[in-house]
Amino acid sequence: MLNGKTAVVTGASRGIGKAISLCLARAGADLALIYAGSKEAAEGVCKEAKKLGAKAISYQCNVADWSQSKAVCDAITQDFSTVDILVNNAGATQDNLIVRMSEEDFDAVIGVNLKGAFNFTRHLARALMKSSSGRIINITSVSGLMGNPGQANYSAAKAGVIGLTKTVAKELAARGVTCNAVAPGFIQTDMTASLPQAVKDYAHTATPLRRMGSADEVAETVAFLASSQSSYITGEVIRVDGGLCM
Ligand code: NAP
Repeated sequence: MLNGKTAVVTGASRGIGKAISLCLARAGADLALIYAGSKEAAEGVCKEAKKLGAKAISYQCNVADWSQSKAVCDAITQDFSTVDILVNNAGATQDNLIVRMSEEDFDAVIGVNLKGAFNFTRHLARALMKSSSGRIINITSVSGLMGNPGQANYSAAKAGVIGLTKTVAKELAARGVTCNAVAPGFIQTDMTASLPQAVKDYAHTATPLRRMGSADEVAETVAFLASSQSSYITGEVIRVDGGLCM
């Protein structure tokens, strides 16, 4: 399905990004995998992808940093003959109520979640336009759709990602590149593992399907958006949230 395509996945070392990477590899894609600090984990994902027959290379990069992102995107376009799929998945939270949130916590979360998606889209846009079927998939969140107490920074960043998605979809449509967003609800990863038990209980009761989702359930939706089966979908936000944000 994705044979001969190259996918760039940010935040590929763990959680949803790891699941996306392996799902795309199973579909036949080669992988450029971006991580921030988890070198061993990223190399482990590379190894698993290679066992599935993919070419896979990992790159260390703080996606919030414009110059580092540019250098890594340049390296990717040298190492792979095409770039066909970009998944902006890298994300981080630093939760606090608005009355206690520091400027640093606001800037850091906007930096990774929103500027990171901008940096990689900006630096790979020309390469994606050269592909016969460019695909950009941004991982946003239900927090960006409905807000969430304690997450002013994260909700603003993820809502920003939706605006970015729709604008890029409009700008690149004429070049055959689609751009969509996936909005997960509560998904079992490191990001949610540290939530207080009361919030985990809320996740179950507030979600109509009465459970948290798995990283693989998000990855399957991303793989669909990366494939030719989604060729007439652009500027869309698909929730993978068990009905949480209806
Ligand atoms: P996670 O398990 O905490 O993993 C985060 C990933 O992002 C890691 O690979 C990490 O790399 C990478 N990362 C963090 N800061 C980075 C930076 N500055 N530069 C480059 N990479 C960076 O998170 P997750 O739960 O899989 O979340 C993945 C995406 O889904 C995020 O965008 C998140 O906001 C979104 N999401 C998650 C949920 C959920 O319930 N889990 C819900 C809605 C949306 P290292 O391992 O190298 O640090």
